[in-house]
Amino acid sequence: MTNSGHEMKSGATTEPKQPPVSIVVIPVTPFQQNCSLIWSPETKKGAVVDPGGDVETIVKVIKEYGVEVEKIILTHGHIDHIGGAADLAAQLGVKVIGPHKADEPLIERVADQAKQFGLPDVKPVRPDEWLDEGDMVEFAGRNFEVLHCPGHAPGHVVFFDRDLRFAFSGDVLFAGSIGRTDLPLGDHDTLIRSIKEKMLPLGDDVSFLPGHGEASTIGHERQTNPFFK
Ligand SMILES: [Zn+2]
Ligand SMILES: [Zn+2]
Repeated sequence: MTNSGHEMKSGATTEPKQPPVSIVVIPVTPFQQNCSLIWSPETKKGAVVDPGGDVETIVKVIKEYGVEVEKIILTHGHIDHIGGAADLAAQLGVKVIGPHKADEPLIERVADQAKQFGLPDVKPVRPDEWLDEGDMVEFAGRNFEVLHCPGHAPGHVVFFDRDLRFAFSGDVLFAGSIGRTDLPLGDHDTLIRSIKEKMLPLGDDVSFLPGHGEASTIGHERQTNPFFK
């Protein structure tokens, strides 16, 4: 996707227009998790969001597009999102950023998660940097705001590019659904509060890419998602 359709707001006309970004979604693990490779077409520098597994495939796609990956970004500590992070970080020699520290207990129990879902054991990842509400993370030449959205997982974060009107929503909000809350440390009421207080106010025009399935917009979900009826 690019921001070519984005109109400059009045008052911002003297600022240089931010370059667009390119995103390729790489479905990984038996959960078909939307691992994303995002980069600036200008500099070819970028990041991998949620490398849950199938590291060889991710590396192949990185090479195919000639992207220089500078960091690995995690939305939350479930195995389908973090399973390949340690391996990929070691191979690329880059840091792992996120999620919120409240997911540390989940990340530490990644071996139990593997067993629970019948997945092969994975190398445990140690994030180099925890994130908190209001933090800014720079990748692919863009500045993403960090929204702490607990409920699906206690340390779940969403990355929002306010100028591009785009978010990586992980497993908080899906097209037509919301994240499950029956896993350890999940809580339904907390998740609904996160969506209503953090995600819906971003604006109906904001599009988002979830951790599974199709992309959507906040406006479409506000009107059609059965969980807000
Ligand atoms: Zn999850
Ligand atoms: Zn997931």
